[in-house]
Amino acid sequence: MAHPLPLPPGALSPPKSSATSAVMSHITEKASASSKKSQWQKGELIGRGTFGSVYIGTNRETGASCAIKEVDIILDDPKSAECIKQLEQIIEIKVLHHLKHENIVQYYGSEVVDDHLYIYLEYVHPGSINRYVCEHCGDITESIVRNFTRQILNGLAYLHSTNTIHRDIKGANLLVDASGVVKLADFGIGKHLRGLSYELSLKGSPYWMAPEVMQADIQKDGNHRVALLADIWSLGCIVIEAVFTF
Ligand code: ATP
Repeated sequence: MAHPLPLPPGALSPPKSSATSAVMSHITEKASASSKKSQWQKGELIGRGTFGSVYIGTNRETGASCAIKEVDIILDDPKSAECIKQLEQIIEIKVLHHLKHENIVQYYGSEVVDDHLYIYLEYVHPGSINRYVCEHCGDITESIVRNFTRQILNGLAYLHSTNTIHRDIKGANLLVDASGVVKLADFGIGKHLRGLSYELSLKGSPYWMAPEVMQADIQKDGNHRVALLADIWSLGCIVIEAVFTF
């Protein structure tokens, strides 16, 4: 059954902001593409972030699991339109599906159903390093920190080799699976760098943010290498945090 999306007020008559109209055309395209029932069945809620809620998903044909990020779309709300535009522009939809690495959460696809945007991702269980630290408080050894750090660096080296900076490396965005494999997640504010022409806006989580990102110096000097190193600063903060749990 089709799920046509309602047009926003004034949709038939210009003017509309270019941001909103770009989002609208994308959503409308996606809406017709999503006329068949999603192959993923939404299950239990596992977390909430800035853009929406995350659920466990089950593939209706294979029984495989995924994480479903659900974002509400309120088409006549400019804030919602802006959110979707950000999500579109960013790694999760435009870049994440090109990335394939053991230490990067795999992107499976996205679709719009009714008034929600769904982003399907590899499900990493039990979850974030933050959660891991809470659950293993007192049991974390230097060897575990070394193992996790090496894997995060592997993921970052791969990410940086594709000219992508994460920009929001923090415990909540590093997921650990049952075998102790760490995966970088939530590219919500990452920026794909093309050559040397890019800009870094002041986004990210301040506690883990490199000072040069805070001061937006990178933007001024346009140094590509320095931009990538901002992720390494954030990783350093996480290692220091982890060491304090010993
Ligand atoms: P913000 O987007 O504000 O930085 P966040 O990173 O916590 O916050 P989400 O990416 O929406 O936001 O994720 C919310 C929570 O859902 C995470 O903290 C994590 O516990 C869980 N989660 C997200 N993605 C996955 C995944 N692929 N597998 C398992 N759990 C996940």
